[in-house]
Amino acid sequence: MINICLLGATGSIGDSTLGVVDQHPDQFRIHSLAAHTNWEKILQIARARKIRRVCLFDATAAFQLTQVAPDLEVLCGMDGLLELVQDPQIQTVVNGLMGSVGCLPTLRAVENGKTIALANKETMVMAGPVIQDALDANPRASIVPVDSEHNAIFQCLAGRPISEVETLLLTASGGPFRELPKDRFAHITVAEALKHPTWTMGRKITIDSASMMNKGLEVIEAHYLFRVPYDQIQVVVHPKSIIHSLVQFRDGSLMAQLGVPDMKVPIQCALTWPERLSLRTGRLDLPAIGQLQFFPPDFDRFPCLQLAFDAGRMGGIAPAVLNAANEVLVAAFLDESIAFLDIPRGLEFCLSSVSMSEGRLTLAQALEADSNAREFARAYIARKVSLK
Ligand code: MG
Repeated sequence: MINICLLGATGSIGDSTLGVVDQHPDQFRIHSLAAHTNWEKILQIARARKIRRVCLFDATAAFQLTQVAPDLEVLCGMDGLLELVQDPQIQTVVNGLMGSVGCLPTLRAVENGKTIALANKETMVMAGPVIQDALDANPRASIVPVDSEHNAIFQCLAGRPISEVETLLLTASGGPFRELPKDRFAHITVAEALKHPTWTMGRKITIDSASMMNKGLEVIEAHYLFRVPYDQIQVVVHPKSIIHSLVQFRDGSLMAQLGVPDMKVPIQCALTWPERLSLRTGRLDLPAIGQLQFFPPDFDRFPCLQLAFDAGRMGGIAPAVLNAANEVLVAAFLDESIAFLDIPRGLEFCLSSVSMSEGRLTLAQALEADSNAREFARAYIARKVSLK
């Protein structure tokens, strides 16, 4: 029986994780839960599964929960998250937190030798070298990626050494604006950007998919997870999202992972690897699909993708700056404070405003870069709003 700490329990990764656990009640048990503010849903999940230990990041929400459920152990804030992940009673952490708040819990889990099913890509983008160093220092710990592309690559690699890899190919659906002419990008509305063609996800990641920043962040995530140089990472637009990603080996063999777009597949893979358990989900009907299409990415219409490659190659704090500024800019776009194209413009402003650090990234530098980038992004947004 594997005891799981589920971070981000009320979001889509949380739902899918509960769906996997429900199919294998003799293998997995959810031991503790965490969410941002949704205490009602946390209470419902805890009651249904007899879970006694929970954390709400938001202090007000945590207080409300203690009022209605005095029998639960309710932790709060970052301290609460860190306490949950280092609990000796759990073996595995599913990190489905949204945004850079997910970074420190991943690090603490690695330091405590846990297996981390990592859906929070911001962890690797913000502090990739720090996590790499922690993994090297804690050989009992492991990270299995849940992000569908990285999980696909992980499955294709199947433990082979990275020296055998020529190229990692990350597939991208291209989002809702794959065919939109460039002159229409200035008028993209929030409602249009929230219509993702293949995956149902949270609002922030859906906007990131529309701008292709999601793929950009995934390129950086892949660089740090698999320790492959940027020159060996490519993005391929594949609109139907049937192939979740591929690995080209040095003998020219191309391995791909295919499947229905259901996050239960990579989550279960991360929980059971290297074994495979049965899973009730859809199955691909290849004759019904008929064709698989591939296109090169358009860096001109999707400048966020180029900015991510640039920030990745700059290294140091640049990915942390990109990630944090993007979070703030996307929130402002969702509030309708700025236009869609202000996201890449704001990112460029932030990347050119920060002074880059020398040497291997430290956690302190990553955290400082994250908060500075948010300030720069807010300043950019304030100026845009004042000009309206
Ligand atoms: Mg993904």
